[in-house]
Amino acid sequence: MKASSVRPTPHPDPLPEGEGRRANAPPASLRVTEIFHSIQGESTRAGEPCVFVRLTGCPLRCTWCDTAYAFDGGTDMSLEAVVDQVKGYGCPLVEVTGGEPLAQAAAFELITRLCEERFDVLIETSGALDIAPVDSRASIILDVKCPGSEMDDRMRWDNLQCIRHKDQVKFIIGDRRDYEWAVDVVKRYRLTETCPVLFSPVFGLEGNDERHPVLRPLAEWILQDRLPVRLQVQLHKFIWDPDMRGV
Ligand code: SF4
Repeated sequence: MKASSVRPTPHPDPLPEGEGRRANAPPASLRVTEIFHSIQGESTRAGEPCVFVRLTGCPLRCTWCDTAYAFDGGTDMSLEAVVDQVKGYGCPLVEVTGGEPLAQAAAFELITRLCEERFDVLIETSGALDIAPVDSRASIILDVKCPGSEMDDRMRWDNLQCIRHKDQVKFIIGDRRDYEWAVDVVKRYRLTETCPVLFSPVFGLEGNDERHPVLRPLAEWILQDRLPVRLQVQLHKFIWDPDMRGV
């Protein structure tokens, strides 16, 4: 769910059979791209050690997606094996991410089991799938896809009615048009009255060597508009190589 200039396959593949489609009998296993221990790079929890469970597959194709390697492949793991591996890191904060983690039916059960194990659970999700069934003990980081992603028409607006004080809403901004669109959504849904709202500049743009070409303009727009949102960058991309996996 990270953002960069990498341009993935333009047309989304349909969800594989059994992923995000069978509400009645969730499979006992998940397809997993990677599980790793790192520093949380985004959200209000940025800087904290965190275990990431990156599930495989995503029905979206954001123009700036940098986790296209999670679109397919992966390894089948039982829920028990995932939970055991997470436990092995001895870290109380866990993020379930992707890809789009909620595209796999068993992800909901995984989230519940992690909550039952008393982990502090974050869910990073695209905004395109229903978050209502997510265990209420978990905290959601909900992306709202701006027009520059070319996925804005996939937004499930009902999700914004489910957002609670402990959740967060994130916009990835590529230009002034994205910014104005995001401001309109923030005001229309009065998001800053409900939860932290994160504005994040797209990392890199095609044909531009700057890592964050929109960062400074974005900061200035926020200040000019007296907008009570949180500007964030992807901390892990400053610590490690931006293309490095597993961090
Ligand atoms: S929603 Fe899917 S395509 Fe978009 S940034 Fe996340 S993983 Fe990439």
